[in-house]
Amino acid sequence: MMTALPPGSTIGILGGGQLGRMLALSAAQLGLKCHIYTDVPGGACDVAASATVGPFEDTDKIRAFAETVDVVTYEFENVPLEAAAAAESVAPVRPGPKALAVAQDRLEEKTFISALGIAVAPFASVSSAADLAPAARAVGETGILKTRRLGYDGKGQIRIKSAAELPAAFEMLKGAPSVLEGFVPFAYEVSVLVVRSLSGEIRFYDLPLNTHKDGILDTSTVPSPLSALHAGRACEMAAGIAKALDYVGVLGVEMFYLGPDAPEPLMVNEIAPRVHNSGHWTMDACLVSQFENHMRAVAGWPLGPTTRHADVTMTNLIGADVNHWQALAAEPDAALHLYGKPEARPGRKMGHVNRLKPRS
Ligand code: AMP
Repeated sequence: MMTALPPGSTIGILGGGQLGRMLALSAAQLGLKCHIYTDVPGGACDVAASATVGPFEDTDKIRAFAETVDVVTYEFENVPLEAAAAAESVAPVRPGPKALAVAQDRLEEKTFISALGIAVAPFASVSSAADLAPAARAVGETGILKTRRLGYDGKGQIRIKSAAELPAAFEMLKGAPSVLEGFVPFAYEVSVLVVRSLSGEIRFYDLPLNTHKDGILDTSTVPSPLSALHAGRACEMAAGIAKALDYVGVLGVEMFYLGPDAPEPLMVNEIAPRVHNSGHWTMDACLVSQFENHMRAVAGWPLGPTTRHADVTMTNLIGADVNHWQALAAEPDAALHLYGKPEARPGRKMGHVNRLKPRS
């Protein structure tokens, strides 16, 4: 029997950043409590019922934390697998650690997704300098060399314009195990926010068009120009991944759209086993946000409607952008979300603003 956790239950969240914070706020709306486990105080801890501050390597502490909660989820994909396993020895972990294992390693991720018959950029493994030339032959002269692990927001990756640049690039990545990806001539980038319940029901949000600045997500706009046909195909691809992972919760699937005439119009770039920055617009333009639906799913509740009632552009506030908070707060038709971070360092996500228009 799959029993929904009743209001008053406690959800443990591994990670205490802005995603954990917005998850905890949504949980509170449903009468659910959150206990945050984080190595940095502040952030999500400021809005949760309880918090434990400790390193993710301290599996005894993680187990003790898991003892105090009814279910555990996570808000960043680099939760050490040992930490997830320690939590799982005490309480259910949703989504399951398999999603973490796949998403933490670009080679595993691409291998897993392409084995499902879902298109990804051409890729080749690079574990030593000897692999560089064969990798370039396999994927082409122009590409991107990316570390297998711990890359995000464009970090740990280098554009390659010819095979001659590869040795220096590999050195810049300190010889870390990497993948070489062929350069994808995409028209634009979209993402699928898919949510899967404990009983296997799947719902999607409308697909946002995503733009980046300096490797960091800048805007997500809905509706995107993607045709209904391709949006449907993108959703099928995302659902295929969610099912194959026996996933519970919100999964972000970043995709390249190459145009209607490309042999593969859509390719998966990467997956995020968590709520996703490109879904922050759902907080104000949907009946139930990605955060609430993630909490519903992990608590075994029925999913909420993903219906969108407005057109919207979400813009991230990076670093000093947040200094304009007074002007942003005074804008009509805009919802401002600030993450309560003390210092507006360059490249740091400080908040976002959702600008709404009547639904077209
Ligand atoms: P990632 O960290 O893999 O999400 O990459 C960050 C950004 O780099 C993506 O959102 C794309 O804009 C760009 N990018 C990554 N991989 C490729 C690729 N194989 N071809 C073209 N652009 C890419």
